[in-house]
Amino acid sequence: MPLDAKIPEGHITEKWDKHRFSLKLVNPANKRKYDVIVVGTGLAGASAAASLAELGYSVKAFCYHDSARRAHSIAAQGGINAAKNYTNEGDSIWRLFYDTVKGGDFRAREANVYRLAQISNNIIDQCTAQGVPFAREYGGLLANRSFGGAQVSRTFYARGQTGQQLLLGAYSALMRQVALGKVQMFPRREMLDLVVADGKAKGIVVRNMIDGRIETHAGHAVLLCTGGYGNVFYLSTNAMASNVTATYRAYKKGAYFANPCFTQIHPTCIPVHGTYQSKLTLMSESLRNDGRVWVPKKAGDQRPPNQIPEEERDYYLERKYPSFGNLVPRDVASRNAKQVCDEGRGVGETGLAVYLDFSDAIQRDGRATIEKKYGNLFAMYEKITADDPYQMPMMIYPAVHYTMGGLWVDYNLMSTVDGLFVLGEANFSDHGANRLGASALMQGLADGYFVIPYTIGGYLAGESWDKVTDDHPAFVETAAGVREGVKALLSINGSRTVDDIHRELGQIMWDYCGMSRNNEGLAKARGMVQALREEFWQNALVPGKNEDLNQSLEKAGRVADFLEFAELMILDALERQESCGGHFNEAFQTEEGEALRDDDHFSYVAAWEFSGDGKDPVLHKEPLEFEHVHLAQRSYK
Ligand SMILES: Cc1cc2nc3c(=O)[nH]c(=O)nc-3n(C[C@H](O)[C@H](O)[C@H](O)COP(=O)(O)OP(=O)(O)OC[C@H]3O[C@@H](n4cnc5c(N)ncnc54)[C@H](O)[C@@H]3O)c2cc1C
Repeated sequence: MPLDAKIPEGHITEKWDKHRFSLKLVNPANKRKYDVIVVGTGLAGASAAASLAELGYSVKAFCYHDSARRAHSIAAQGGINAAKNYTNEGDSIWRLFYDTVKGGDFRAREANVYRLAQISNNIIDQCTAQGVPFAREYGGLLANRSFGGAQVSRTFYARGQTGQQLLLGAYSALMRQVALGKVQMFPRREMLDLVVADGKAKGIVVRNMIDGRIETHAGHAVLLCTGGYGNVFYLSTNAMASNVTATYRAYKKGAYFANPCFTQIHPTCIPVHGTYQSKLTLMSESLRNDGRVWVPKKAGDQRPPNQIPEEERDYYLERKYPSFGNLVPRDVASRNAKQVCDEGRGVGETGLAVYLDFSDAIQRDGRATIEKKYGNLFAMYEKITADDPYQMPMMIYPAVHYTMGGLWVDYNLMSTVDGLFVLGEANFSDHGANRLGASALMQGLADGYFVIPYTIGGYLAGESWDKVTDDHPAFVETAAGVREGVKALLSINGSRTVDDIHRELGQIMWDYCGMSRNNEGLAKARGMVQALREEFWQNALVPGKNEDLNQSLEKAGRVADFLEFAELMILDALERQESCGGHFNEAFQTEEGEALRDDDHFSYVAAWEFSGDGKDPVLHKEPLEFEHVHLAQRSYK
């Protein structure tokens, strides 16, 4: 099937306005006749469900948490971007658009990114009206700070709890609609398959996580807002439950998966401490506003940081990138941290860490100012490491954080399955090969509050409003498949824990498909993943039964999907014989060790089509054209 991104005609600045005008409308009185299924109630899902219900649609919202409020979005710390330019620093919609396309290393669709930049300002207005307590300046205006890849301060924040505050805003809007009866909320349900009937997405099959019942739900359209898949690496900054199941199973039902190998490794996380650690902690990028990154100049220097004199320190980001300094984008900062550690200049017990030092900022601005800005992050760091970052530099190292890949969507956020829309981190759009800090919240809320309310109308206006019911054979068949899948997991009866298998998978992915990749390693990893998958199906230990709360069963289903999906990531990485953003193939680098793109051959979105179990997927290419931001080697010098 040819990929049609449905990018509207006209100048980039007018595309979205024109498109909104040309989209068909659903009469307000008819909206209630349409049932919309929203899976996921993080920022993307909660904002979408609330907005669609506000418009009059009948919405059913699902999540696997006990409350919509517990989605992974709540963990977001640093902030959300918008081009308000309150400070007259020279920001504009155009600059945000430019920075995002460049930051993504020219692997995102220009039209989508421009729309995102346009909408960014509406998001701040909407959230402020909801009562989100953004930080303010003395004069009352909302405050901004800087994030990587930009030379203006455009990040709105609520201390280090921006995601929590934004989610509480979206959650309130959602619960208002629940109270009004416009949204039916289904917590503790895990979507285990998509129902495609007569070529269109018509519903989902979920498992009730309390009693194991398999339920079917029908609707005129399905929205997947199920977040990212960083936990394929086992250790990541993501919430423990984040997984790929919903999107992977939709992929198996015909939705193409785009750029699965584009993973973001965040430069500022607390380093790994032990073999049995199951989670990594992010130290927000906002800290790089005031923290200075350094390592000793000499390899193997074991002295404590306060005994290393200034002239023997290498502030390598400031040295190599004088214009952006510590605020280079994440892919660049992460690669440089790895490089200095590979040179033997890493610090701490393992040598896999660099310093993030606040002593200059504390001396300059005073402890009280730093505490006001980052107090909760400093407290979190101290709690985890038992070191006081007011006295000693923090130790940080890159960790898996975000996935730019996701289900392919067109300009309307519709996947290759008619009626299946994908929002937030679950889709591939907008960030190209590297996401800039504070842009995920912006994208999720843009999708949910401001894009889908228009584009879903364009789809539904062409649909009959006859009730969609689950008596179509496709529902029966899909539910039977889900039951079989659960049964298969419970009958493995092996002896190796699912966690242990997952840990091994994560190590393979980190070693061979992580921060730096090469063809030989990727080919080897493919074989290792296949062997591990086989072992899983022969020897995994999945105790308990279906008709109960069974977290081992839940986890086993997710890891089974990760074991298949990991191979798709590897194939994608092997196919892209260039380096770009977070995808760094060692064979393709500049003399200075920066990612070297090959625009002549790889300026496209790689969208993979499932072609059957045990068969290689089929690659489709959506060519990317850059009319407004000229293709160039990225430079942050
Ligand atoms: C520690 C951390 C800090 C971050 N800080 C920032 C920041 O400061 N700024 C920024 O822009 N970005 C930040 N990010 C990224 C950002 O938080 C995420 O990209 C974003 O919140 C994702 O939102 P989402 O709505 O797409 O998905 P999520 O918030 O992950 O929500 C997913 C939802 O889907 C549901 N779900 C998933 N699968 C299923 C299923 N099979 N069945 C039923 N329900 C399902 C879950 O229950 C949940 O409700 C941060 C990320 C991390 C890890």
